[in-house]
Amino acid sequence: KSVVHRICAGQVILDLSSAVKELVENSLDAGATAVEIVLKDFGEDSFQVIDNGSGISPNNFKVLALKHHTSKLADFPDLESLTTFGFRGEALSSLCALGNLSVETRTKNETVATHLTFDHSGLLVAEKKTARQVGTTVTVKKLFSNLPVRSKEFSRNIRKEYGKLVSLLNAYALIAKGVRFVCTNTTGKNVRSVVLKTQGSNSLKDNIITVLGMNTFSCLEPLTICISDGCKVDGFISRPGQGSGRNLGDRQYLFVNGRPVDMPKISKLVNELYKGANPKQYPIAILNFTIPTRAYDVNVTPDKRKIFFSKESAILQALREGLQQTYSPSNV
Ligand code: ADP
Ligand code: MG
Repeated sequence: KSVVHRICAGQVILDLSSAVKELVENSLDAGATAVEIVLKDFGEDSFQVIDNGSGISPNNFKVLALKHHTSKLADFPDLESLTTFGFRGEALSSLCALGNLSVETRTKNETVATHLTFDHSGLLVAEKKTARQVGTTVTVKKLFSNLPVRSKEFSRNIRKEYGKLVSLLNAYALIAKGVRFVCTNTTGKNVRSVVLKTQGSNSLKDNIITVLGMNTFSCLEPLTICISDGCKVDGFISRPGQGSGRNLGDRQYLFVNGRPVDMPKISKLVNELYKGANPKQYPIAILNFTIPTRAYDVNVTPDKRKIFFSKESAILQALREGLQQTYSPSNV
């Protein structure tokens, strides 16, 4: 049974960035306004997500990391009106199966925090009092140490995984309004570097300037496209002939209702239309799709990065028309 659990867990947590993503989303779901990500050796040795959110109440300690424990989904019909990032109660249980998980947490009703240690099956094995502000710290040490083959891959690819993680954290820092992000990495010789630091502005524009820099921002123009009842796209995109990415996907961030997602068909279309004016180049794009929750499904793949739209062709068509205007020859 525990082998099956490990294999399933390996499908929710594919790599470093999907692991940290789950923790950051838990912090955002808990209403945090400050989220700090602390990496040791690019995440290979450990990673930690520290927040000032609601904290976890003591009656949830025992069940916290058990499979399918979630405090977010009361009834199945809720899936239709989903507003939290998490809803399946799989992240913490998967992280237990794949690495060494501990949690430190305190709600506003407690005067002290509690440090919790879990075993690989998600059982709470140690509990002690400690000092902490209201909020939660989740620490994962030695991710994948439990899966020998994955563990080797993980070490070998760590720089690439780290790069992917930084880009994902940038995505949250861009889109999350009023949330301060800090990410640091400490390498073997205790050299600590700040990877990301934001002020938690409420405007996408300010977040772009902080995360991607003023030079990048000055190559962009705002874009708003209305698709249909309640559906729209807005954000920023490279001006014709300006602000090209070095390679495919470089500084391209797509969101659905503030959730970072992969949308290959949409990326392809955006690249295609931009390249009409600038062959062999890729646009910088920060685009948020506002879509009623009933019109799409994020529950397609275990890591929730893929998305299924019920009106995909209408969305693509509206985007095509909107971008054709931006990139029409008269604008270039
Ligand atoms: P899900 O997010 O799908 O509910 P998780 O396994 O990610 O499942 O988390 C399980 C539960 O643990 C959450 O429903 C929530 O109640 C609690 N939790 C996890 N992380 C945090 C956090 N940073 N702050 C407050 N509660 C948390
Ligand atoms: Mg979660």
